Amino acid sequence: AGQIQIEAITSRIDEQACKKCGLCAAVCPYGAIVWKKGEVATVIEAACAGCGSCGATCQFGAITMRHFTDDQLIAQVHAVLAEQPQEKVFVFACNWCSYAGGDMAGISRMKYPASNRVVRTMCSARVSEEMVLEAFRCGAPVVLVSGCHYADCHYINANRQTVVRVQRLWDKLEKAGVRPERLQLEWISAAEGQKFAKVMGLMEELRKTVTMAEIEHGKEALRPKPKKAAKKKQAAVAS
Ligand code: SF4
Ligand code: SF4
Repeated sequence: AGQIQIEAITSRIDEQACKKCGLCAAVCPYGAIVWKKGEVATVIEAACAGCGSCGATCQFGAITMRHFTDDQLIAQVHAVLAEQPQEKVFVFACNWCSYAGGDMAGISRMKYPASNRVVRTMCSARVSEEMVLEAFRCGAPVVLVSGCHYADCHYINANRQTVVRVQRLWDKLEKAGVRPERLQLEWISAAEGQKFAKVMGLMEELRKTVTMAEIEHGKEALRPKPKKAAKKKQAAVAS
């Protein structure tokens, strides 16, 4: 009695890796990250709900989500797209709404194309830019990020960060000469099996419009750029 129950999935900050930027504290819907200018950020574990938004925001790899690490999610991306990626619609679905909506569609035996491959995250805000880009680099023709309806986010309003991230990705894709429509964002609730089925149908239609040439261009154009120091080193080796 009197004890606070906390969900097992919480965020952990590596003090050595933290660059003190404070971005993680700015995106946490629970105020669970303490940060002051010039200091490393720390997580108040009892206040952390485990949405993963901070993990997807940190650009320095300083944040690990317990039981749901970046490496585990990236490994799932690789596994799903290891064979015939051009045949697949890659879906990130949040645990509480979209993934449950997919279950509902399945239980209700709704018909929809079998091309989708779903990777579950606790919140759509857990999906980092890097995870989406990696799916394209692995040859996914279409990537769908899906979460709870705007006002229904299980983590207060973490899905606002999903929108910010997807918009940033659309810009990146456009700059790289990759059709931004290949990345889609949809809100699907747990009760909306029908919407899930409809969206999967639309994604499959979109997938059919993506050519192999586009996929190959995307793989190349979205490769991570070598850092300046690494570039200099390469140039020195080459000369
Ligand atoms: S976003 Fe990353 S680098 Fe920035 S304060 Fe948070 S943990 Fe540190
Ligand atoms: S952003 Fe989410 S995962 Fe990160 S500390 Fe806040 S509640 Fe926890």
